[in-house]
Parts: sequence; structure tokens; C-alpha cells
Amino acid sequence: MDDSGASPPGLKAGALRRDFGSSLLTMTSAQVIADRDSLRGLVRGLAEREIAPEAVRNDEGELFAESSLQALRRAELFGLTTGQSYGGMGMGDVEAAIVLEELARVDVSSAILCQLVYNGPPRAIEHLGNDSLRDRWLPQAVGGELFCIGITEPDAGSAATSMRAHLVPEGSGWRLEAYKNYVTGGHRAVACLVWCRFPGSEPGTGKGIGAVVVDLSSPGVSIAGTHRKMGLRGCTEAELAFDGVRVEPEDVLVTGDPGDNSGLKTLLAHINHERCGNAAMCLGAAQGAIEYAVGYMGERRVGTGHLADLQGLQWKIADMAIELEGARLLLTRALEGAGAGGTPPALESAMAKLACNLAAKHVCDEAIQILGGYGYSREYPLERVYRDVRGLCIGAGTVEIQRNFIGTSILAGRIPREWPWNLGRP
Ligand SMILES: Cc1cc2nc3c(=O)[nH]c(=O)nc-3n(C[C@H](O)[C@H](O)[C@H](O)COP(=O)(O)OP(=O)(O)OC[C@H]3O[C@@H](n4cnc5c(N)ncnc54)[C@H](O)[C@@H]3O)c2cc1C
Repeated sequence: MDDSGASPPGLKAGALRRDFGSSLLTMTSAQVIADRDSLRGLVRGLAEREIAPEAVRNDEGELFAESSLQALRRAELFGLTTGQSYGGMGMGDVEAAIVLEELARVDVSSAILCQLVYNGPPRAIEHLGNDSLRDRWLPQAVGGELFCIGITEPDAGSAATSMRAHLVPEGSGWRLEAYKNYVTGGHRAVACLVWCRFPGSEPGTGKGIGAVVVDLSSPGVSIAGTHRKMGLRGCTEAELAFDGVRVEPEDVLVTGDPGDNSGLKTLLAHINHERCGNAAMCLGAAQGAIEYAVGYMGERRVGTGHLADLQGLQWKIADMAIELEGARLLLTRALEGAGAGGTPPALESAMAKLACNLAAKHVCDEAIQILGGYGYSREYPLERVYRDVRGLCIGAGTVEIQRNFIGTSILAGRIPREWPWNLGRP
């Protein structure tokens, strides 16, 4: 949206691997900070040069962000979080968030392409999967093939325990019967992580829910449709039908034990990566919006002065900045809580997602207000950013579901790490 902080000249696509080929985990703190700043600068430059120019066209035409996919592949960005033994760079949640934030600053739809790989099925396969799954899918993730996740069904959204997707035993494996909707990237992905019931599972409960990885070129898989949406129009949410799709034992990521809900718990814990990535994209989108509004305020004349001279609007900027930075601190805490190769903690991730969703929605709304009629115009970028952020408040668990989890956790005596709370002792 503006070109401040563009990456140093001379950095070309593919430079990422040369500059960040060694794991950040082995560096000193000072080196890590320096390299994170360099990573941010590199991705900012790429985003402004190669991602931003197509964002409006993709949004207007509801076109998949094909040129972004190719640019991100050329820059070898898809291998960021995958382990070095599979050809990736082995970086963590903090670095993933930096990339997602910088991409979302110019186009959330394009950032989602990386989110699908960094915080979607490949990460789950690497952490939870068997060698066969890892060897088959992780090199493809590094190469920039997309993956998708199928949890939601037409009658099972927030209440995942209502899902009907199930496995029917056949020989040494199963047949999958499922219908998943709102599958981000489902029409372009090579594989889908499908949450489903294992044989013996009790309908309407979490017992027996697990997940399998399905090759989307398998017989029985079909794209039943795509959703027409308010925003995030540069990436697609598909409806995927799985009619008797063969699933082998090695395709199982998490086994659903019909006696308990341990499989579901494992899967839900892993969603914390996705929640943090979602939060990072909100931060980036809102950052782009506030930067645009500030630039506009310095140029737009009203009467004898500029918008920037009006205290009422200065206060808006102050509130927007505080909201954004407060949310950023919550996200930083959640990301750092993941540690080396771990998963961000649940309560901190829910707080970060909720705060970043709400901050981004409000910041984008206020940025539109600051531009007046131009903010509402499709010739300016802010209304698109607002529509995109709106979708992020629903995906990866709605803001209401985050509130439920945060409230019940605190009432059950669970508190965020390192907080001097003294619950239950008046
Ligand atoms: C842009 C986008 C991308 C998505 N990508 C994916 C994807 O890749 N894979 C996938 O599986 N799904 C995806 N989803 C689906 C998303 O996860 C669901 O839309 C979400 O979980 C909500 O489910 P629902 O739409 O069925 O709403 P419902 O569950 O019907 O909820 C409707 C409303 O009621 C509220 N509500 C529900 N239960 C409660 C409760 N107990 N307490 C308080 N309020 C409640 C909700 O917050 C919501 O506001 C995506 C959605 C969007 C918008």
C-alpha cells in the first residue's frame, strides 16, 4: 500500500533460501532478531512488487491468485516451516507469522496460500504423521503444492462434533464418505486433511473423531462447487464430496478411538497454528489499512488544513494504533509460547486470534471512515481489506467460539502463562 520499508534492492526471487538456509533456531538472539527483520524486509519487497499489483484484479473478477502462487513458489517461500530433511527451512511460528503479516498487508488472499502450507495440513503431517505421510507430502509442500483442510460440513460448523464424515471398513483400510464445505483452496490443493469419524464412533459426540489425508486425485473425490463470497475473493472456498474414497492405513494422520475424544483433542490443539496464522494475517491487513489512512490524512485538504490536523481524527489513529499493538503483543506471546518446533498454547492463541480479529475489523472500519466517500469506493483499497478481514473473523473458529473457550478456561482456573492472577481466592 505504500513503499516505505521496501526490501533492499538486489534481493531476487529465490534469495530466501540463500539468506535463511540455516535454521534460526541455532542462532543467537541478536542474530535471530536481525534475520527476522531481514525476512520481513525481503517479503515486504516481494509483496509490493509481485503480489499487490494483482490483488484488485483478482478481487474484482473473483480470480484465484495464480500469479501470487507462482511468485511465492519462485521465492521458495513455501518451504519456510517444513523441516530441512524434507527440503524446507525448518523455521517456526514467529517466522511464519512475519511472512503472513507482510503478505496480508497487501493481499490477504495471497497470504492464505502460505497459511495453507505453514499452518495447515503439512505442519500437522510433520508433527503428527507417520513416515509414509511425511515422505509423500512434505516435499510437495516445500515445492509449493497447496493443501486444504476439511472440517466444516453444511450441518456442522462451530459444532464439529456434529460432523457426519465417516470411514467404512474395507479390507485392510476404509472407504471415506464425506461432504465438506468451505474448504479453502480445495479446488487447487493436491491433498485434503479430512476430519472424520472412525468405525464405532458415536454420532453427535467427539468420540472416535480422527483425520485422514486424502489425495484429491483419488477416484470418488469431486468438487461439488465453490462459495461466492463477500471477500477473500482471490482464493477459493470449495465444497468437496468424498464418495467411497479408498483410505489406506498409512493415510491416517490421527486415529479416532471410539472410546474417547483423544483424537479430536489432538486435532484441536494443532489448530492453534492456524489461529495464530489467521491472527497474523489480520494484523498485516490492518497495518496496511492504517498506513494508507495516515498517508491519506497527510494529503487530503479540508478547509484550510489537512485531515491530519484534526484532533478528532488524530484520536482515531491513536485508538487504532493502540488496538493493533495490543493485539500484536498477544500474538507475540502466543507465538513465542510454541517454543522450538512446538505448538502455540491454546488459551494464548485464542486470546490472540480474538484480539487480532476485533482490532483488524475496527481498524479497517475506522480507516474507511477516515477516507470518507473514497473509503467506501472500490477504487480505493480499504473496502476490499475490510471485506477480507471480515472472513478471517469467521474462519479458524469464530470470535464467539474463541470467547467461549477463553471464558470457560478462566472460570476453570486456567490462566495465561506468567500472569499474576489469583483465581478463586477473594
Ligand atoms: C473465509 C473462510 C474460510 C474457511 N475455511 C475453512 C477451511 O479451510 N476448512 C474448514 O473446514 N472450514 C473452513 N471455514 C468454515 C468455518 O470454520 C466455519 O464457517 C465456522 O467454524 C463457523 O461455522 P458455521 O459457518 O457453520 O457457523 P455456525 O456454527 O452455524 O455458527 C453461526 C453463528 O453462531 C455462533 N455460534 C455457534 N456456536 C456458538 C456457541 N456455542 N456460542 C456462541 N456462539 C456460537 C457462531 O460464532 C456464528 O456467529 C471457513 C470459513 C470462512 C468464512
